[in-house]
Amino acid sequence: MKGITRATKIVATLGPATDSPQKIEQLISAGVDVVRLNFSHGTAKEHIQRASWVHEAAHRLERDVGVMVDLQGPKIRIGKFENGQIELVAGAEFILDLDCNLGNQNRVGLDYRQLIDDVSDEDILLLNDGHIVLQVESLVNKEIFCKVIQGGILSDKKGINRQGGGLSAPALTDKDIEDISVAASIEADYVAVSFPKSANDIFRARQLLIKASSKAWVIAKIERVEAIRNLNEILDASHGLMVARGDLATEVGEAAVPALQKRMIQLARDKNKLAITATQMMESMTQSPVPTRAEVSDVANAVLDGTDAVMLSAETAAGKYPARTVSKMSEICLEAEKFVEGIVDSHFLDRTFQSIDQSIAMASLFVALHLKIKAIASFTQSGSTALWISRLNSGVPIYAMTPEDSTRRRMSLYRDVQPIFLPQEQNDREELIRIAEQKLVDAKIVTQGDLIVVTIGEPLGQSGGTNTMKIVEISAKPLGGSEQLRL
Ligand code: PGA
Ligand code: MN
Repeated sequence: MKGITRATKIVATLGPATDSPQKIEQLISAGVDVVRLNFSHGTAKEHIQRASWVHEAAHRLERDVGVMVDLQGPKIRIGKFENGQIELVAGAEFILDLDCNLGNQNRVGLDYRQLIDDVSDEDILLLNDGHIVLQVESLVNKEIFCKVIQGGILSDKKGINRQGGGLSAPALTDKDIEDISVAASIEADYVAVSFPKSANDIFRARQLLIKASSKAWVIAKIERVEAIRNLNEILDASHGLMVARGDLATEVGEAAVPALQKRMIQLARDKNKLAITATQMMESMTQSPVPTRAEVSDVANAVLDGTDAVMLSAETAAGKYPARTVSKMSEICLEAEKFVEGIVDSHFLDRTFQSIDQSIAMASLFVALHLKIKAIASFTQSGSTALWISRLNSGVPIYAMTPEDSTRRRMSLYRDVQPIFLPQEQNDREELIRIAEQKLVDAKIVTQGDLIVVTIGEPLGQSGGTNTMKIVEISAKPLGGSEQLRL
């Protein structure tokens, strides 16, 4: 670990472009903190293989890398065509027909058969992520008669959205339920639920995870109009959200997304939850070795909005330059972070806290901002102290130390938090502080004379027991070469 560490985290989707132990190692070396296994593509076997490559590479590189399983969710798609695809022209008539097996120029079948009950006259349907627009003219038996508003090439199995939402498909399909067991078997740290509409969808996922003995945290992908309407309750039920801009844009209109992104990130932080900003962040780099100016600004603005993580999809899963895209994204985040002023909202002063550990977390942040503090070192079992400190976007780095592997992997997604390996349980507070000092000095994060804030729970080693804050003046000297401690 270097003295300067990135505060914003990078989530990268694995896929054909990263399918070897070497490529995954390159990706992690370039700066990936959490990998995303996209269960919309590939087999369970492929995902299990990728997860084990990630764990092995992370171990070799002495890094903590989280694994996020992204469930496919309901497939709201058309069927197939005789010739694989057709070209629709504006003004033409087109029929979505439940009885159609293989489509042609006039009609196509539906994988999502409930669509007929979900739509009514004059509804706008968006196909292939909004590239093709149809307007419903009438419903007759098993046929939805439409007019083509915007034409283009339409190929097999493309997705359908209804403008304004309102599709009845449940968030968790039978496949998702099976995939939750896979997530449990690979010890996934996060599970992302696609297309949730209400808190109930999230509760259902959490129940299934508990049944499968998984400790994974649940991320709600906000990509439906209903999810925006129920944002508070969905977020209360989840550990975090994803601003899933791809599908969200087709449901609410692209222009509404940037403001929603800001609102969602702020709400997540206010509720002590996590936020991931996703989709097309570096899209042009799937083909090009450099990002566009607009993409650079998009990533930087997500950092300034306070996102925990920025996410790559096709850029790493199927792109030409997976590792290069991660390095570029990392550079952009670091540069944008210089602009974060580290001013905590004044309403921070009026807050009351529900627990001792939360109060210690806030007190340490207060000290860090008012005394010249270089870093906060937080001894933690569950990671909750580190999460609370990190929710206020103070810009002060938090080094969260724990022997718990799963806690370190989970914390790899938290903004401003660097997980640090602690060799084993310690029963002696002074020894623990000495180890923390030595690690921070060796990593060139602090030098002699610097001040750090340490949070500890006494008696040591109990989850949720943080009750002590200590201000420590660094006295340790760097250890040389091979004596260096592992971070
Ligand atoms: P997806 O989700 O990549 O699984 O579709 C993200 C999004 O919709 O933006
Ligand atoms: Mn989506």
